[in-house]
Amino acid sequence: MSKISIKNLDKVKNAVNVCTMCGFCKSVCPSFKAIKWDSSVARGRVILSYGLLTGDIPADASVIENIYTCTTCMDCVRRCPSKVDIVEIVEMCRADLVSNGHILPKHKAVAENILNFGNPYGEKDTMVQRLKVKPKNAKVGYFPGCSATFRTPETTNAALSIFRKLGTDHTVADCKCCGSVMQRIGWDNNDVVKMMDHNVKAIRKQGIETLVLSCAGCYRMFKEEYPKYVDVPFKVLHMAEFLDAQDLKLKEMKVKATYHDPCHLGRHAHVYDAPRNVIKKIPGIEFTEMANNRETSRCCGGGGGVRSAYPNESKMMAEARLEEAASADLIITTCPFCVNNLRFGMSGDAKRVVDLTELADELL
Ligand code: SF4
Ligand code: SF4
Repeated sequence: MSKISIKNLDKVKNAVNVCTMCGFCKSVCPSFKAIKWDSSVARGRVILSYGLLTGDIPADASVIENIYTCTTCMDCVRRCPSKVDIVEIVEMCRADLVSNGHILPKHKAVAENILNFGNPYGEKDTMVQRLKVKPKNAKVGYFPGCSATFRTPETTNAALSIFRKLGTDHTVADCKCCGSVMQRIGWDNNDVVKMMDHNVKAIRKQGIETLVLSCAGCYRMFKEEYPKYVDVPFKVLHMAEFLDAQDLKLKEMKVKATYHDPCHLGRHAHVYDAPRNVIKKIPGIEFTEMANNRETSRCCGGGGGVRSAYPNESKMMAEARLEEAASADLIITTCPFCVNNLRFGMSGDAKRVVDLTELADELL
């Protein structure tokens, strides 16, 4: 197999050389815990990337699988004493694999759906059409996100219901996919920037000053990634932050509950307190943290394109995360990907996984 042409990995050449092979990343990597091969841990992925860069390792099926079973959860970056940015290396590596034609069929279909239909599922409706709302001008705009709109509509319905109950004059942003999935799987970043540009223009056109999002992945894009490429002339809030700022009067709920930090909201965007503050406002709730929480939270296994291409590995990661919630009857989170994947990993219906947006609407 011939050497691939490198356009992106060059940018992370130094980072690749900083890894001391200490192996500290083995103690946290969810894909390593599921797959149990050294090639599926951060250290292994650094070696594979270096091999691709020098041409000593061919882009064969096993290399591609090990690069694409990383959920981009960033726990290794937190744990790494040498501060190697493994997520950056993995994403650059993916970009070079894709530009050389090594794209997984599932990921190719997802990216083409986004380009053709504006969402990864190939749904013919736009988000506002599916929500049956007429976009208007308002200072507060809701960005529903593809996953919640097309796969967990209970979350988008709950968000709109919350705005109505609180009397917030709002609109739904008439946007396409935020571009997160394309960026995570290594698709051409020029296409991602075009999505960013389109969305920012649509949001500006509606006079939106505060954009509220209920998906952790979309939030990270607008908050952390968009400003690297386009001007973002509006405030970006996760629904948890929006709710935290409200004088909420929530109904009592007697339940043993815990909270799962989505990697995109927590480690990637540093939002830890807002969801917990909202949960604290629920009278009667018995809240316990999971053993790994906040910065050390473990990934649910649903991100980075892993769920679509490697569902078995994704499920194993969800099962491992759910073990930490053994004493809770209610697992609250703030991302439709996490809701979906934790439900996917659950056996039986003894526990309930719920999005905070949905729970808040139920109790308002
Ligand atoms: S913790 Fe960092 S330096 Fe150590 S092996 Fe993992 S990536 Fe390399
Ligand atoms: S980002 Fe997460 S899944 Fe990927 S190598 Fe690091 S710890 Fe493992």
